[in-house]
Amino acid sequence: MNLSRNFTLSELTKSDTAIRRGINNNPNAEQIEKLKALCENILQPVRDHFGRVKVTSGFRSVELCEAIGSSARSQHARAEAADFECIGVDNAELFDWIKSNLSPDQLILEFYTPGEPNSGWIHASWVEGTPRASFLHAFKENGRTKYKPVMGKATELV
Ligand SMILES: [Zn+2]
Repeated sequence: MNLSRNFTLSELTKSDTAIRRGINNNPNAEQIEKLKALCENILQPVRDHFGRVKVTSGFRSVELCEAIGSSARSQHARAEAADFECIGVDNAELFDWIKSNLSPDQLILEFYTPGEPNSGWIHASWVEGTPRASFLHAFKENGRTKYKPVMGKATELV
């Protein structure tokens, strides 16, 4: 089943952990509609601009969230968020393009180290209505995850 021109439902629900542990990670009809909106408004425009998008995590059922230690209140569990990368594209550049061209609810440059284009990944969410327009850089400091707002460009982070 296609969610948009280049994205399939299986790409957005695939989880090795779910397969390995026999966890049901099938979204319901309402969640499928939300995944379609996420694809149409975020992933497909990224695909059209940068080429192939590698989705590492999309929808996560509450059971899957619990199994991997992710919050059951995360936007992944509400079918509103995906983690992804584009082959050969600096994640900071990808972040800046989405920030200036699309309307994500929340955009996080996850565990990116400035100067290391392949480090980390992008987390982006989309909601119907007014987006929070929350732009963050996540990084580890003394073993803890910290979030810092990205005011300007991620490509200018040091
Ligand atoms: Zn995420």
